[in-house]
Amino acid sequence: MQITWAKLAEQVSECTACPLCESCTQKVMGQGDPKAPLMLIGEGPGEQEDLQGEAFVGRAGELLTNMLKAIDLPRSRVYICNTVKCRPPKNRTPKPDELEACRPHLLNQIALVKPRAIFLLGSTAVRVMLGPQYRITQCRGQWFERSGIKIMSTFHPAALLRDPRRKHETWADLKMVRQQLKDDGLYPDLLP
Ligand code: SF4
Repeated sequence: MQITWAKLAEQVSECTACPLCESCTQKVMGQGDPKAPLMLIGEGPGEQEDLQGEAFVGRAGELLTNMLKAIDLPRSRVYICNTVKCRPPKNRTPKPDELEACRPHLLNQIALVKPRAIFLLGSTAVRVMLGPQYRITQCRGQWFERSGIKIMSTFHPAALLRDPRRKHETWADLKMVRQQLKDDGLYPDLLP
């Protein structure tokens, strides 16, 4: 029997499968349209996400909202989550065993949303979804497919805040996502 959103929320809130739950304030499962055609996956909750319980808030979240606006996509029409649901201490990159422990939750989210496309934000999401041999600098700007779902990747908004020179590459990736959604007949239904 397929998992439900309520069951998944319960599993995540009770999860102690890796040590990250010992230091986080709360679990951050993700939020957005539960039937979104486009799903975004980042790395893990940062300080503000950990405090507020939502994925992609704070400066990186604001930038993500603006990135979506630039392709006429309201944030409320996508589903946004992270590879791990608990904040890694001092925002360090999640370790391979932590990513592996949290992977079932992410796969359940994908199974529930059933997105037409996934947009990976940053190298951790790329490694989890495409494989450890993939690097963001090599695979961004190209479509991949896993289990019938198209996958595009780009730089994490936090990385763009640190190095704005990458913004033009991200804009090119965003335009490819918009074109794919258009080709799939999903625009203008997604517009506000
Ligand atoms: Fe569980 Fe994921 Fe939190 Fe680890 S990061 S405790 S696997 S919910």
